[in-house]
Amino acid sequence: MLTDLRQRLHAIRSAEMPVEQAYGVIKRKSARFSAEATGARFYCPVCGSWYRSFAAFGLRGRPNARCPGCGSLERHRFLWLYMMGRQRILRPGSRILHVAPEACIQQRLLRDFRVRYLGIDRYDDDANAEQQDLTDLPYTDNAFDVVICNHVLEHIPDDRKAIAEISRVLNPNGHALIMVPIDRDRQSTYEDSEITAPSERHKAFGHPYHVRVCGWDYADRIREMGMAVFEAHSTDIPEHRRRINRINRTVLYDCTATRS
Ligand SMILES: [Zn+2]
Repeated sequence: MLTDLRQRLHAIRSAEMPVEQAYGVIKRKSARFSAEATGARFYCPVCGSWYRSFAAFGLRGRPNARCPGCGSLERHRFLWLYMMGRQRILRPGSRILHVAPEACIQQRLLRDFRVRYLGIDRYDDDANAEQQDLTDLPYTDNAFDVVICNHVLEHIPDDRKAIAEISRVLNPNGHALIMVPIDRDRQSTYEDSEITAPSERHKAFGHPYHVRVCGWDYADRIREMGMAVFEAHSTDIPEHRRRINRINRTVLYDCTATRS
């Protein structure tokens, strides 16, 4: 991701936690599975297919989390529904900056929308993305109409600087769609820069790559960096639809730059 991943990856590999366990790596099933699916219960809005089941994913193996066709997770499906439901976010010719791009979202945007798309990642060589540091972007002010930054900021020690960069490159009429994992029982975000070992971070923050646990006040941190934040809650989607799309309780920050 966007921090010192290579170093920590080595620590995890050598001593602490298999990468497969950290990321719940699974082998994707063929999209042809959808054609064979009889009695399909779940629909993935990202790849537009029905499935009998989704794959387990995550440290605790959440059941029916990952789409076997496109690899989308619950948060990707919510993000996609939100983007599709608010047509003013995606327009023909929109300039999109996709941070640490998820392949499922990237592929749909490139395939089905006439947008000007740029993916960036700090380290990932396989992500079909430019290698850039989110805390120090080389782009001009107002360069993008949409910024997508999904589960990235919890990996970045100086996340305020990253948020400031997102705000800077965002067109004042544009939208930054930001998601972080929220501990729903926590009001205040918890972080401690002294905690650096993957195993200690896992204990303190719930994940060996995370540098904080985000609470409900995280939206205020974004506001402090110069953006207005609309909090979109997945629970606003009807319950039966969340069940079919396998969308969990989460929140998406729809952010707009407040400068003129
Ligand atoms: Zn899918």
